[in-house]
Amino acid sequence: MSDTSRPSNLAAVDAAHHIHPFTDMKKLNAEGTRIIERGEGSHIFDATGKKYLDGFAGLWCVNIGYGRTEIAEAVARQMNELPYYNTFFGTTTTPAALLAEKVCAHAGAHFNHVFFTNSGSEANDTWFRMARVYWGAVGKPTKKIVIARRNAYHGSTVAGASMGGMKYMHEQGDLPISGVVHINQPYWYAEGGDLSPEEFGLKVARELEEKIDELGEENVAAFVAEPIQGAGGVIIPPATYWPEIARICKARNILLVADEVICGFGRLGEWFGYQYYGVEPDVVPVAKGLSSGYLPIGGVLISDRIADVFINEVGEFNHGFTYSGHPVCAAAALENLRIIEEERLVGRVRDDIGPYFAKAWGSLADHDMVGEAVSVGLMGALQLAADKKTRRRFAKPDAAGTAVRNHALANGLVLRATSDRMLASPPLIITHEEVDTMVRIARQALDAVWQERRA
Ligand code: PMP
Repeated sequence: MSDTSRPSNLAAVDAAHHIHPFTDMKKLNAEGTRIIERGEGSHIFDATGKKYLDGFAGLWCVNIGYGRTEIAEAVARQMNELPYYNTFFGTTTTPAALLAEKVCAHAGAHFNHVFFTNSGSEANDTWFRMARVYWGAVGKPTKKIVIARRNAYHGSTVAGASMGGMKYMHEQGDLPISGVVHINQPYWYAEGGDLSPEEFGLKVARELEEKIDELGEENVAAFVAEPIQGAGGVIIPPATYWPEIARICKARNILLVADEVICGFGRLGEWFGYQYYGVEPDVVPVAKGLSSGYLPIGGVLISDRIADVFINEVGEFNHGFTYSGHPVCAAAALENLRIIEEERLVGRVRDDIGPYFAKAWGSLADHDMVGEAVSVGLMGALQLAADKKTRRRFAKPDAAGTAVRNHALANGLVLRATSDRMLASPPLIITHEEVDTMVRIARQALDAVWQERRA
C-alpha cells in the first residue's frame, strides 16, 4: 500500500483491532508496530522507508525472494479464469492437479500422492488423523500414539501444538492431547554433557526405541521430527542421529514423519531435508517454501505404501478443507516451483551460496560471545554463550538473544532469536555480498551486546 492510501494512524488502528500471533499485545501496543510496506529481492522496507536485509525470509518461507512479478501475473491469470473451485465432489482444477504432480516429482520415487492443506499446522493435523486411519485399515487399530520431541515445532492447531514440544504452548489449552508423547531432542550444545556429538546423537535417537518398548510397539503409530528443528533454535542433529532414527522406525514398524515445513524446497540444498540426511520417510508435511509464502498453501505427501491403503482400503477419508488445493494458491506454488527449477536454486544452495554462507557465518565462531556458529544450506544458528570454553549459557538467555536481535534490526538486518540462539534463514537468492553484509551486521550486534554485558 502506498503512503497516499495508508491512513496516518495505521499503528493505532492495528493496536485497536488486531490480535497478533505469538505476541504480548500489551507490550506491542506500548512499543508500537513496525509496518512493513514492500519487498524486493532479499530486502524489505518499512513505512518509514528503512531498508532491512531479511535474514529470515519472512518466516522461513520467502525462498525465491520478494517482488517476483511472475507470481503476481500467474495469480492474476488464475484469478481471472477461475478464482475458486473445490476439490471435493469429483472435481479438480488445472493448477491443483499439476501442482500435485510437480511436488511428487521432486520427492523421490516412492512419493506419488499429496493431500493439500492451507498451512503447515493443517498438514500436521491432517497426517495425525491419516496415520491412525492407515493403521486401522491395515488391521492394527491399536497403533495410535505419536512420538514427537521436546522443543519441536509442528504448528498451532490442536494436534500440531500437541506434537510440538513447546511447554509454553502446552500450558495454554490443556495440551498435549492424549496419544502424543515426547522424547528428548538432539541438542548437543545444551544437553550433550560430556558425550561427543556422535555419542549424544545415538543416545537421543535410542530414546525412541526405549519409548516404543515402554509404550508397546503395537500402540505406536508414528514418530515425527523436523530434519533440522527450526523454531526450536535451528538444532542441527549430530550425523549419527537420523540414520539411527530411520533404522528404529523401520525395525519397529512405525511411520516416520519428516516435517519439511521449513526444510523443504531447497533450504538445505536438496529439495527436501530427508534427502540431505539420506533417509526415507513415509509421510511428509510441507508448506512455506511450496509457494515461497506468496499465498498460503501446504500439503501432506504420503508414500505409495500409505496411498495404496487409502485408495484401495479406506474408501472415503472424511477430512478436507474448503481451500484444499485452492486454484489460485496452487497457481502461485506452481510458478514458484518453476522459478526454483529454472534458476536452479536448490543446486545453488548446495554448491554455491550454501558453502559460502557456511564459511561466512561460521567465521562468527571466533567471537567471544558465540559458542557455536553452525549451518546447513541456508539455515544457520549462533549459540550465544557466557563462557564458550565451558559451554556455560547466560543466566537470562532470552535477554541475550533479544538484545542481539534488536541491535541487528536497528542496523538493518532481520535475524530471529530463540532464547540464546540467533537464527538465520535467508532467501535462497541471497547474494554473496548480502551474506557478507549479514555477517558484518551480526558481528556488530554481538560486539555491542558483549560490551554492554561486560560494562
Ligand atoms: N512445522 C514446522 C516445522 C514449522 O516450522 C511450522 C511453522 N513455523 C509449522 C509446522 C506450522 O506451519 P504454519 O505456520 O504454516 O501453520
